Amino acid sequence: MGNLRQVTQALGRVLQRDELEGPRGPDGRLRVTVPRGWLAEGRSIELEVPRMLECARCGGGGCDGCERSGAVTTRGRKEPPELIDLHLPASSQAVTVRLPRRGGLPSDETPDLARGLMLLLVVPGDEPSAGVRVVEVAAQPAAVSAPTLAARYALTPARLLVAAAVLLIVLCVFVATR
Ligand SMILES: [Zn+2]
Repeated sequence: MGNLRQVTQALGRVLQRDELEGPRGPDGRLRVTVPRGWLAEGRSIELEVPRMLECARCGGGGCDGCERSGAVTTRGRKEPPELIDLHLPASSQAVTVRLPRRGGLPSDETPDLARGLMLLLVVPGDEPSAGVRVVEVAAQPAAVSAPTLAARYALTPARLLVAAAVLLIVLCVFVATR
């Protein structure tokens, strides 16, 4: 197991280095706000990628990478909005996530290059930014549908497993005592 894990991690590093350092389109920067609880619990979110991102190289001031516009383009004018699923790293503070091939399109001179990186800054706040939704892991059963209960006993996969195990034990006891 140990060896397998090391190999997997080594492969991950190679892939990542290629994706993070290889030639590619311009990198873009996006800042989104999510409710503190989503970030604290490391929830999965769905994010609609804006067509324009702030140029990561110049921070919007204008440079050669973005043809002085301060922005990079993620899709053609007629293409539908791109949705990405993202598992947030559990954190109490803002985090930056690097997303390969979610940044700017390559220039017309180098159309074969991959898209750049998206540097996604996720900031904890009150309301989610427009286009950001939490992805529900499972539907909540009616027994815990009251908002206060649902908030206090948020359903995580681990809790669902525990709940299923408890239910199984109760059923077994019920059958055994009949
Ligand atoms: Zn720029």
